[in-house]
Amino acid sequence: MFGSIRTILLGWYALILLLTIGVFGGVLYASQRRAILGEVDERIRNHSAAIAAATEVDPLDGVEIELSEDYLGLFRREGPAHPYFAVWRPGGEFVFASREGLAIPFPERAGFRDRQQRREIAIESSLGLLILVGQHTGERREDLREFLGLLIGSGLAVMGLALLGGWFLSGRVLAPIRRISRTASEISGSNLSGRIDVGRTESELGRLAITLNEAFERLQEAFERQSRFTADASHELRTPVSIILTSAEQTLERDRDPAEYRESLEAVLRAARRMKGIVDGLLTLSRADSGALTMGHDGVELAELVEESLGLFAPMAKERGVTLSWSGPKLLVSGDRVALQEVFANLVSNGIRYNRPGGSVSVSLEEDGDRILAAVTDTGIGIPAEHLPHLFERFYRVDEARSREAGGNGLGLAISKWIVESHGGSIAVGGRVGEGTTFTVVLPRDPGEDLG
Ligand code: ADP
Repeated sequence: MFGSIRTILLGWYALILLLTIGVFGGVLYASQRRAILGEVDERIRNHSAAIAAATEVDPLDGVEIELSEDYLGLFRREGPAHPYFAVWRPGGEFVFASREGLAIPFPERAGFRDRQQRREIAIESSLGLLILVGQHTGERREDLREFLGLLIGSGLAVMGLALLGGWFLSGRVLAPIRRISRTASEISGSNLSGRIDVGRTESELGRLAITLNEAFERLQEAFERQSRFTADASHELRTPVSIILTSAEQTLERDRDPAEYRESLEAVLRAARRMKGIVDGLLTLSRADSGALTMGHDGVELAELVEESLGLFAPMAKERGVTLSWSGPKLLVSGDRVALQEVFANLVSNGIRYNRPGGSVSVSLEEDGDRILAAVTDTGIGIPAEHLPHLFERFYRVDEARSREAGGNGLGLAISKWIVESHGGSIAVGGRVGEGTTFTVVLPRDPGEDLG
């Protein structure tokens, strides 16, 4: 493919070059030919006019030519370099030739003609005589042929040099493309870290290299995210699976009393529920990624939804000594009730789980133009600043042991973020270690209704 671009380029280049040199050489040759042969035409025309003017017809003596001996001597000399002339009567009767043995055929009509390397002109004198003047042009034609040979030779030499230059230049231009394609072909699923050397790639190709490098960068990131996600998911599932296996194996080692069976089955049940949570989360995210999950567009009253979420977690909060509260007006958003419920359930349950006895979780709803701000604030352990940018990534945990102990699977915030963004909103986190955390959800208001 690379070789063929160079060949095609060079083919076109050669064609254009051939045409240019051909036209140029043709014009040069034609003008040289006109200069050389035109001069002969001019000379014989002048001679013919002079001879015609000096020719007389005497009824008795015949035809007389009154020219000086010197001038006539010009036509009498032997040899191809010298002109000659001949005269005929109107009927075609031969009268006179300047030299012996010329054997000139009668010119049927006046005008120029070429005959055996000779250029001849015939004119009719005022007395009706036909006067022909001729000149051997062999030597001049030989000069012209030499000139043509020179033209073709130098044309071919120029063409050869230009093609050589073209071959060299096209090689130089195409070398970076070859380098780019070699690097690109070396980059594969198992090695996405290769990059094109931008420093050595000039101009437009440099920009192409930068664009490709950026694409490779994104590809590598996506690939790494994907493999990290798969590794994390397997890791998450391994713990409950091993709990189920060990409890079952240990319990079955010997006969046990019903209380022991019950205890073991409860451990299995907890692990299975945990697995279900992870699998459900993964399923939601993968359906979200593939675009298979779509959001409803119901009018959802947010205050009601928040109250419900808090109600769901009241027993858990009571158990952990955490108080729950909410405040704000009735506000309507257009969205999917079940999905939005999941967001608030997630945030409230996190607020309770990462809290301490005596702490609180409060939800405040607020109107801000055509947006609704919902803030979920807790007085819990807080999140160190360096973790904040990653909090919404899948399986990301600030403290893995603590999260698992708190019953989390690391997918809740990733799912919440996806749900909020699918509603055209955004989610953000802030807070201080030891003081607490605030999650702020911004959702667009339902433009249809105003509950006041
Ligand atoms: P998990 O199921 O582990 O809670 P999430 O996606 O809901 O997963 O949260 C991700 C991580 O963010 C948690 O593991 C926890 O470390 C941290 N986190 C979430 N909410 C809070 C909070 N309110 N206070 C402190 N840390 C939190």
